[in-house]
Amino acid sequence: MRLYNTLNRQVESFKPIDGKNVKLYTCGPTVYHYAHIGNLRNVVFNDTLRRILESSGYGVNHVMNITDVGHLVSDGDEGEDKLEKGATREGKTVWEVADYYIGAFNQHTGLLNVLPPTKTVRATNAIPAQIGMVQALLDKGFAYQTQQAIYFDISKLNDYGKLSRQKLSDKEIGVRSEVVVDKDKHHPQDFALWFFTVGHFADHQMRWDTPWGAGFPGWHLECSAIIHEHLGETIDIHTGGVDHIGTHHTNEIAQSEAAFGKPLAKYWLHNEFLHQDGGKMSKSGTETITLDEVIKRGYDPIALRLFFLQSHYRSQANFSWENLDAAQNRLKNYRMMADLRWQAIEDGDQLTYYDTYTANLKKTFENDLNTPMALETIGAISDDLDETILPENKDEFILFLKTIDELLGLQLLESDDITDEQENLIRQRNVVRSNKDWIKSDEFRAELEVQGIGLRDTDHGAVWYRI
Ligand code: AMP
Ligand code: ZN
Repeated sequence: MRLYNTLNRQVESFKPIDGKNVKLYTCGPTVYHYAHIGNLRNVVFNDTLRRILESSGYGVNHVMNITDVGHLVSDGDEGEDKLEKGATREGKTVWEVADYYIGAFNQHTGLLNVLPPTKTVRATNAIPAQIGMVQALLDKGFAYQTQQAIYFDISKLNDYGKLSRQKLSDKEIGVRSEVVVDKDKHHPQDFALWFFTVGHFADHQMRWDTPWGAGFPGWHLECSAIIHEHLGETIDIHTGGVDHIGTHHTNEIAQSEAAFGKPLAKYWLHNEFLHQDGGKMSKSGTETITLDEVIKRGYDPIALRLFFLQSHYRSQANFSWENLDAAQNRLKNYRMMADLRWQAIEDGDQLTYYDTYTANLKKTFENDLNTPMALETIGAISDDLDETILPENKDEFILFLKTIDELLGLQLLESDDITDEQENLIRQRNVVRSNKDWIKSDEFRAELEVQGIGLRDTDHGAVWYRI
């Protein structure tokens, strides 16, 4: 298996630290709003990675956090906590806001057939581990305290920024503002490990007592602490969107490696953005699209999943309703292909090469998750099947479909056979058709269409599909 490692900027052969066991960590959602479909692209990317690892025989311990405290809004927005902002917007407590959007996130990812992580941890359920880490960093001289916060002192590291390869001078612009401005900060790029509920944050709803004063954790700290508590010192793979490279992941690395003296992760994988109208889709943007909107417009959530898989995770993808239409059509073709498994027509031309296709499919996934190429493989076989009829070697065909479901999560094998009554209608139509009674034949076709079953006439008889 080969994966692109952001740390080394190259595709590398994947070798887990411990044989067949993989420790995978994903930065999860910030639950102050619905996940938009850009966030969901990130979720499907993680899920695809997890699926190919499992299909290649690895046992995956997949941990994901949920950010329900400490993630501040970007520059220029006074550095308010996103959860507090959500609470003000909705007239609810931060806890209610978090619970609501966690529910929505779980519902949406379920509809996209995303496998739940082995463990999901809310930042607010990992406070002791975060306080412990701050203590360790203070003890080792990597952190200092001001009246407003405890900061990580980046001047204590000589490889800060190794992941982003950004010079500090370049980073100045991109940095998230933590507190309004703390004049006691040693270096403008030092980042907050812990905010005190004073000054700007005096009304902050979430707060915990610590030996240094009451407050709440900085955003980066939760991931470092959760990884250490649930996965250990060095994990195999850490994932997130490309926006995390410069600050969030850079700071996770700084904290964890300073506190524990070990590399945080061996492989860093990042998905590119989903764009819309030429710009990045973001939760603070006005035109964000959620899965509810996609469903409301009549699309199947699995078509959205397929839309994501049409682009390689390291390429930017552009969302448009036309692009989603294309994915929905593609899904319909795949489903048509899958429904052929119920209707063996013995004298048809046979396809005999499913084994090769199944192997190819796996190979393309193992090559840095080349999902567009995998879809080409599936497209080729579904085109061939269009010309021919169901194979005799049905078991191999079903195994091929099973592999598609395993790797792409398209649920092709979840459809049922048609009913005996529907089969009977098809048989009756075949009889009237052979007698050239076209009017009767069309009546049977119309009756089936009302029931959602379409017919395609071939040299070997009628083939049905779901409309
Ligand atoms: P957030 O909920 O904002 O913390 O983001 C959750 C995940 O979605 C992070 O890994 C982000 O990098 C990722 N993400 C945010 N916006 C986009 C986008 N437009 N396209 C793809 N991924 C995104
Ligand atoms: Zn993180």
